[in-house]
Amino acid sequence: MSEVVPPEERVCERCGRMDVWSEREQKWVVAESDGEPQHGQPHCLHEWDINGAYNPFSK
Ligand SMILES: [Zn+2]
Repeated sequence: MSEVVPPEERVCERCGRMDVWSEREQKWVVAESDGEPQHGQPHCLHEWDINGAYNPFSK
């Protein structure tokens, strides 16, 4: 049985928003970089880099 491993982070290709997956909360939370939450732009229709085919071997 092969299990699909869900991605643990995602980045918006439009505004640079960054999320990380919280196992504990079972939801996406805003990632921080240098102590600054990476909110991106509030009205952006986020285009996540993990949309479509997620490839765990792409990195
Ligand atoms: Zn965005």
